[in-house]
Amino acid sequence: MRIDIITIFPKMFAPVLNESIVKRAQRLGRVKICIHDLRDFTSDKHRKVDDRPFGGGSGMVMRPEPIFNAVEYIKSQLRNSATPQVILLCPQGKKLNQRLAKKLSERRHLILICGHYEGVDERVRQKLVDEEISIGDYVLTGGELPAMVLVDSVIRLIPGVLGDKNSLNFESFEGNLLEYPQYTRPAEFRGMRVPDILLSGNHNKIEVWRKTEAVKRTKTRRPDLLQERRNAYGQD
Ligand code: SAM
Repeated sequence: MRIDIITIFPKMFAPVLNESIVKRAQRLGRVKICIHDLRDFTSDKHRKVDDRPFGGGSGMVMRPEPIFNAVEYIKSQLRNSATPQVILLCPQGKKLNQRLAKKLSERRHLILICGHYEGVDERVRQKLVDEEISIGDYVLTGGELPAMVLVDSVIRLIPGVLGDKNSLNFESFEGNLLEYPQYTRPAEFRGMRVPDILLSGNHNKIEVWRKTEAVKRTKTRRPDLLQERRNAYGQD
């Protein structure tokens, strides 16, 4: 997979993308991430990426020209035939969830546009963007953190990125369930004992216990997920 990120703060990405699983995915060649400074796609001497909104009002709006230039430049560099999905990070977009992350992880090429100020000129949405994605119902200063959240959630789902592929099968949101409680050593800590079943070595019983706990936990914390699960699979 290839991911291009268009931003006015290119330096924000290295500390996050060059660590942990995302770094590993790049090292393994499962993903190539290219960061583009939006100011490199301006044509004036001040490298201006924003301007005042038509009709007045507070704040500044990101100019369409540099964003169009950046996306067109990235597309012009492509040697393979995979059509990139152009995504605008935007609080008004479709909310990111595990299902959407999985869908995106199956694509060959994503281009992410990080907005700032009051957001981008509407014509970017109209002509350039295939999908708008939000990371939640709150407003952040810029699209960089949302882009990093999206990249992390997508990359760990690319086959071969996580060392143990089973860890994905039992993770929260798989099959619309939250994950069961996890314990590690010691078996007793400050008077709190690990459930005996987990120490029993009986893997069938452990599996049943985990499933029951996952359903219980989902029922109390996220009943909406269970309802979706019932609709999809007809069971808890
Ligand atoms: N004026 C815009 C509005 O009310 O919808 C908000 C603009 S916000 C301050 C600046 C940029 O941050 C957005 O263009 C977007 O790229 C990014 N952003 C902020 N919150 C976001 C969220 N919840 N999800 C995705 N991107 C977000």
